[in-house]
Amino acid sequence: MSIKIESLTHIYMPGTPFEKKALDSVNVTINKGQFVALIGHTGSGKSTLIQHINGLLKPTSGRIIIDDIDITGRAVKLSSIRKKVGLVFQYPEYQLFEETIEKDIAYGPKNLGLSEDEISSRVKRVMKIVGLDYDTYKDKSPFELSGGQKRRVAIAGVVAMEPKILILDEPTAGLDPKGRDDILSQISALRDEYNMTIILVSHSMEDVAKVADRILVMSKGKCILDGVPSSIFKEIDTLESVGLAVPQVTYLVRNLRNKGFDISDEVFTVEQAKKEIIRVLRGARND
Ligand code: ADP
Repeated sequence: MSIKIESLTHIYMPGTPFEKKALDSVNVTINKGQFVALIGHTGSGKSTLIQHINGLLKPTSGRIIIDDIDITGRAVKLSSIRKKVGLVFQYPEYQLFEETIEKDIAYGPKNLGLSEDEISSRVKRVMKIVGLDYDTYKDKSPFELSGGQKRRVAIAGVVAMEPKILILDEPTAGLDPKGRDDILSQISALRDEYNMTIILVSHSMEDVAKVADRILVMSKGKCILDGVPSSIFKEIDTLESVGLAVPQVTYLVRNLRNKGFDISDEVFTVEQAKKEIIRVLRGARND
């Protein structure tokens, strides 16, 4: 289930004074099971790109091939794309509406026409992964939950349809640090449990550093950097030139290196920095 994005260009309102090229010949291939973060300043084209991957938008030119099928072709039905590609919008909890958590999560699978048993087992499976005990929560109203829990129910509702590709648009927006960490670790757990390909849209370098295998950096409708986090975070000047910053801890590590400490430049999470600083201090003491 690879995703091949070939020369994808999207122009909003072509031929009008408001014409806007939101994507400019984007070429990217994402392999099955990858956890890819899509980052970029507001207006860089991230939402436009992800809406093409689940068929909400059609390209002005170019193609998207998922699993050898050109989803941008005329003959392809939207419903068949949606089965493969789940999209969790920003603030998905605003779309919760059923009277119980179980019914809300079951809504999507029901629409797929699955049997009651299959729906029930899918709901139980996903609630476990997102950290909501089935017996405790199934009959509660989603509206009784905390903000972070509501968001987990909304994500669970998309995951219960078991798409092979899960796209999440800013899933940590508006949460406190604990809520952000919980959601990120649950998204990683979902990837492992369901063997999904994940595309995470984010502004936050800190979030991305914790979970992604690969980072795509967008600017002005183009993909300007593509690589593993350690290589992307070395491009401090390029990132800053497009309004992005590397994780805060990367600056600390760079300052320590500039002061002569022998610290690896592959450090970009607080946890890694802690280990590396302890290692260097121990070495200095032994010298
Ligand atoms: P991002 O998700 O990175 O913030 P978007 O894909 O939303 O970026 O936007 C890319 C560009 O396209 C921006 O300049 C934005 O103003 C423009 N744009 C987005 N949606 C529309 C629309 N429906 N009509 C016209 N222009 C749009």
